[in-house]
Amino acid sequence: MTSIQGIAASSGIAIGKAYQLVSPDLSVEKVKIDNPEKEIDRLKNALELSISELEKIKEHTKKSMGEEHAEIFSAHLLIINDPELINPMKEKISNDKVNAEAALDEVSKMFVEMFQNMDNEYMRERAADIKDVSKRVMAHLLGVTFPNPALIDEEVIVIAHDLTPSDTAQLNRQYVQGFVTDIGGRTSHSAIMARSLEIPAIVGTKEITTTVKQNDMIIVDGIDGKVIINPSDEELDTYHTKQEKFAKQKEEWAKLKDEPTFSNDGEQVELAANIGTPEDVEGVLKNGGEGVGLYRTEFLYMGKNELPSEEEQFKAYKSVLERMDGKPVVVRTLDVGGDKELNYLNMPKELNPFLGFRAIRFCLENEDVFRPQLRALLRASAYGNLKIMFPMIATLEEFRQAKDILLDEKENLVNDNVNVSDDIEVGIMVEIPSTAVMADQFAKEVDFFSIGTNDLIQYTMAADRMNEQVSYLYQPYHPAILRLVNNVIEAAHKEGKWTGMCGEMAGDPIAIPILLGLGLDEFSMSATSILPARTQIRELSKKTISSYKDKILSMGTAEEVVEFIKEKTV
Ligand code: PEP
Ligand code: MG
Repeated sequence: MTSIQGIAASSGIAIGKAYQLVSPDLSVEKVKIDNPEKEIDRLKNALELSISELEKIKEHTKKSMGEEHAEIFSAHLLIINDPELINPMKEKISNDKVNAEAALDEVSKMFVEMFQNMDNEYMRERAADIKDVSKRVMAHLLGVTFPNPALIDEEVIVIAHDLTPSDTAQLNRQYVQGFVTDIGGRTSHSAIMARSLEIPAIVGTKEITTTVKQNDMIIVDGIDGKVIINPSDEELDTYHTKQEKFAKQKEEWAKLKDEPTFSNDGEQVELAANIGTPEDVEGVLKNGGEGVGLYRTEFLYMGKNELPSEEEQFKAYKSVLERMDGKPVVVRTLDVGGDKELNYLNMPKELNPFLGFRAIRFCLENEDVFRPQLRALLRASAYGNLKIMFPMIATLEEFRQAKDILLDEKENLVNDNVNVSDDIEVGIMVEIPSTAVMADQFAKEVDFFSIGTNDLIQYTMAADRMNEQVSYLYQPYHPAILRLVNNVIEAAHKEGKWTGMCGEMAGDPIAIPILLGLGLDEFSMSATSILPARTQIRELSKKTISSYKDKILSMGTAEEVVEFIKEKTV
């Protein structure tokens, strides 16, 4: 057996067959041929195989994820059946006497380029579809396997170099038991998704795709971040036992499901959950969430060909608010960019996407995208306890501008006699150091803060949250981060406002005592972390930990902080 160490991204143990979700090498060699009919037949055959595959995927997706998700494959089928695209390939084979691969490659590139240069946005979006379709046909011509995650219909563990949020959104929850990737960290979005899907996951292994083969038996130990490949019977026994122990532990935690969260000296805090889709609410309620502290709305925009309509968004927000039944729901407005790309928006390629045109920066420049979301939220506000927050706020002007647009849309709706709640709190995410430093000024204008440590840490330490080579700098317990967090909480309290945290740090058992001591009001985390956090907080004295505050904030390194906190709280 072989074992590989990675970063534990979502806890639990999964045991099963590996499914390699790896893009094959599709490089092409142009070859002169002397039998064009044979090449045209090869092309036809590859097209037919691709068509039947796409039909299968479309049906499957429709059944498992709904009509809307299946639309993209209808578009692919239209393209692959279009003689305007296919005939030039056949002509090229006959006239230039080249192999089918070269004809497909050259003709599809020509069309992609042509579509990319069109004025009409809809047509430009088709370029990405042509690229996808030609890759599928090319894989059939080359006789290599093209991965079809949507077609998985048995229990597997997905192995991938990386999983983008839209890959993750396509995975069938019913069959994917866990996943392991080469790259990524605990706060990359695939890891966050894994936690909300409640499947064990390990990221940042560096070598999983080159070590594991299709159908290898593997164990994913999401508790300790270890993958075991082709385990012995003895190891299987050990891990079955660990799996049972984990299940028992979960049963213990579940006893606190309907309890409020008090420290052992009687101080109450709120434990909320981070969600990505309305379906995640089930997990929030099952895990005793007292609210939703972060609804990442960008997933509504992913895995499709066009922007979601205002109506579609309204339905999603309303459903979350209704199902949360009066409990607070903090919805974050669209946070695209960074690692969350939307192909159909044709956002520019950037050298530093995490420092680029993302989130509120994008929305303020694209009011045609921003306003429908705000309208959908305002309309949904009548159905529950909605709070709205803006992501990636760096300056007061950005907040004011975003809030003005929100108020403008509210006025429009009220003038049209639409029912809108009168007490929607409007806050911001604190994930940029400038905002954490200026929290005293922001606190006068916002209703609340939610600290997004996933980004705040990467920007403070200048260490990409996706890059495992600099993961040693990704230090939540570093006094620099704790001082910023403290600054935000103090500034909020001075103005009678509350502070939450929705970065992954909020659910981290080492950070929890520190944050409780700093006076954090709301902890928002992956739903599965809520019950362990509640168990932990019930054993902590807030007063005692608060008395260590000055000492902790004056420490020099993260290591000192961790050592101290462990000594005091274990
Ligand atoms: C964060 O940055 O901490 C956060 C919660 O936002 P996201 O992880 O979606 O960037
Ligand atoms: Mg963020």
